[in-house]
Amino acid sequence: MRIDLKKLNGVYGGKITFENEVDLSSENVFGEFPFQTPVKYHGEIVNHLGVLMLSGDISAVLNTHCARCLKPLEVPISAQVEAVLSRDESDEEDVFQITQDSVEVEDILIPELLLQVQMTYLCKEDCKGLCPICGTNRNTNDCNCESRQIDPRLAALAALLGDK
Ligand SMILES: [Zn+2]
Ligand SMILES: [Zn+2]
Repeated sequence: MRIDLKKLNGVYGGKITFENEVDLSSENVFGEFPFQTPVKYHGEIVNHLGVLMLSGDISAVLNTHCARCLKPLEVPISAQVEAVLSRDESDEEDVFQITQDSVEVEDILIPELLLQVQMTYLCKEDCKGLCPICGTNRNTNDCNCESRQIDPRLAALAALLGDK
């Protein structure tokens, strides 16, 4: 959503509010397409004593899955963004350079949202995952593979201790 900033020229205290949603379903994040529902954002741009300040809020529901048991998960994420819109080049982190009398707020908000996406999610902290041998979901079922699956380092130690 492109916002025309001309209305704020010389208007101290002037404010433009915005609200929209964006389709990020083709956005590839860590090899997945987690944004299956529209991403919502809103915010305002204020002329604060001649400095254009943007503050915004962007939120989405990630369609992902548990990294251990592959259970589908819906994870809400959001980002709060504060940025200064400046025509001057700047290395400062919260300054966004604008080259014309308008700004595409999605260029500021979407990268901040993407920063919130983690590489992996778990359905619960202590998810037991799938059995690597038979594929059973260990959260819901027990299988008999577990006893046979011994870490080779532990097996060596057990042999040393004479614990067969
Ligand atoms: Zn899980
Ligand atoms: Zn098993």
